[in-house]
Amino acid sequence: MASRLLLVNGVIADPSPVSPRVLYDHALMIEGGRIARIAPTTEFTDLDVDYLDLSGRLILPGFINLHTHLYSTFARGLPAVQPAADFAGVLKNLWWKLDRSLTLDAVYYSAVPVLLEAIRSGTTTIIDHHASPHAVRGSLAALKRALADTGLRGCLCYEVSDRDGEAVAAEGIAENADFLASCRHQQDGLIAGLFGLHASFTLSERSLEQAVAAAQATNAGFHIHVAEAATDQEVTFNLTGERVVGRLHRLGILGGRTIAAHAVHVNDADMDLLASTGTVVAHNPQSNMNNAVGIADVERLRSRGVAVGLGTDAMTHDMRQELRAGLWAQRLKQQNPSAGWDALCAAQWDVNPAMASRVFGRPVGTMAEGAMADLIAIAYDPPTPLTNDSLHGHLVFGIGSAPVDTTIVDGRVLMYRGKLELELDEEEVMAKAREVASGVWGSLREF
Ligand SMILES: [Zn+2]
Repeated sequence: MASRLLLVNGVIADPSPVSPRVLYDHALMIEGGRIARIAPTTEFTDLDVDYLDLSGRLILPGFINLHTHLYSTFARGLPAVQPAADFAGVLKNLWWKLDRSLTLDAVYYSAVPVLLEAIRSGTTTIIDHHASPHAVRGSLAALKRALADTGLRGCLCYEVSDRDGEAVAAEGIAENADFLASCRHQQDGLIAGLFGLHASFTLSERSLEQAVAAAQATNAGFHIHVAEAATDQEVTFNLTGERVVGRLHRLGILGGRTIAAHAVHVNDADMDLLASTGTVVAHNPQSNMNNAVGIADVERLRSRGVAVGLGTDAMTHDMRQELRAGLWAQRLKQQNPSAGWDALCAAQWDVNPAMASRVFGRPVGTMAEGAMADLIAIAYDPPTPLTNDSLHGHLVFGIGSAPVDTTIVDGRVLMYRGKLELELDEEEVMAKAREVASGVWGSLREF
């Protein structure tokens, strides 16, 4: 078998917000897990290659999800959740009950089903934020196994919190530190780590200082929820007399390798600190609307120089849905039907690839020679001209609902024409997931 794969007969699209391109009659060569060459088909005369026929398909870089929680899968359809009056209630009645009930088995089986959904949605890189307070140690290894079994690229962390006491917080710090140390020996670039922190309002000074000290030895950035709801600001102010972003800055948590998820309740001074430190905000519009915490002012964040990327906070693993929801939310917030377009397209196709490339230490998420071959093909027959200028319009209003039928990560074909090319037995995995989920539902921990 040739070590090179040539994608032929498809239309190649580069969704870069600055210079979008649609290339007809071109082919794409994958070699060594990277995009080796994009050129007119007639220029590929060397026949020692394997071919992948993508006729009728639009070839795009795979999507990156900048913030999600794979463990939240088992919340799907969870019965007997008490209605919540506010965000604190959502955490108390649902998320903290669920994550306290997770076993290591549940961590693995909640991840695999949605990683398969990610493959089917064209999401090739997952940046996860994990919590399982009664199964902390080994949880990131379980997630790493789920990623390896599905072939996706993933960045993991454990969300350290004091909500379950000092011992569990210490376990979370150790889990991050050990996982990050193990990543140093992982040469394939499919797995990376950040140092996870839950949120300022559930972290004491002592735990944050210990986490920062442990993170220093790993040279990793942080992944933390920031001002998702007003509560984060209120509790933090009562604790230290500071605002959330200021507190994180004082402790050395902000920076170009740190993801601040949400940033809904931030003021101009907070935004300036996020911008000057190069901290990347992960905007999660569907989650923010679902939890009724507000809509992040993406336009203002961007105008003050903050890099805003896009995550889903586990509401979906289809980034095309999230992009659309983000656009509509921003338009409603700004009371302007033109708002959000540049900001959301930049989040998806500029900031997300830039941050993922930093985290994985190699170019991820772009349609460029030398970038990692994380690619998807979508069956799309455009009813109107598809050109450089119209590409983003098609991406938002048409391609967003067209089926992804081929997914490639690191040059490996994970799905071709709708059929998964994995070794795992999907039916068996889903049956086992339902069995494990049923066990979790039957043992939800009160507190
Ligand atoms: Zn989150």
